[in-house]
Formats: sequence, structure tokens, C-alpha cells
Amino acid sequence: MRQEIRTFLGGSPATTREISQAVRASEKEVLEHLEHLEKSLSGKGSKFMVSPAECEKCGFVFQKRKRLKKPGRCPLCRSTAVCEPLFSVRQH
Ligand SMILES: [Zn+2]
Repeated sequence: MRQEIRTFLGGSPATTREISQAVRASEKEVLEHLEHLEKSLSGKGSKFMVSPAECEKCGFVFQKRKRLKKPGRCPLCRSTAVCEPLFSVRQH
């Protein structure tokens, strides 16, 4: 399945939900695979890209978030309208 996710991310950037639908797995499973891909892909000709989650209300960007999971709410304005992070894999 990890290979399937990797192939899927070679196309356009996708959210955890989109990936989970594409490979028919739970979002929790997908996150575990993403965390592994992020580690295993570095320095092997591909790059795992994360475009960070962003608050739709005030534009706050969750840059320093280490976990790949979608944040629950914005620390600045407390809005729960948060764009999900997007993942993709780029070849060097
Ligand atoms: Zn906000």
C-alpha cells in the first residue's frame, strides 16, 4: 500500500482524505504510511513535500507542526476552518 500511496502522490498534491479514498484505507493508516514515506524518501532521488495546513479565516500557516495530521483549530483566531495539509512526492 505504501507504494500505491507513493505513486498516487507523484500526481497532483492530495490531502489525507483523498489518499485514503484512493487506496481504500483509513486516514489513520494513511498517516502512518506518510510518516514512513517522509523518512524513507529523503536522499533517495525523491522528495516528500508537505504544503502546510492553513487557517481559512486569518491565513495563519501551521509551519512548525511536526505531525502530519490536520490541526483541530487555529491558535490565533480559534477558527476550526482549517485547510488540510497537502502531500506530494517530487522526483529530483
Ligand atoms: Zn485563524
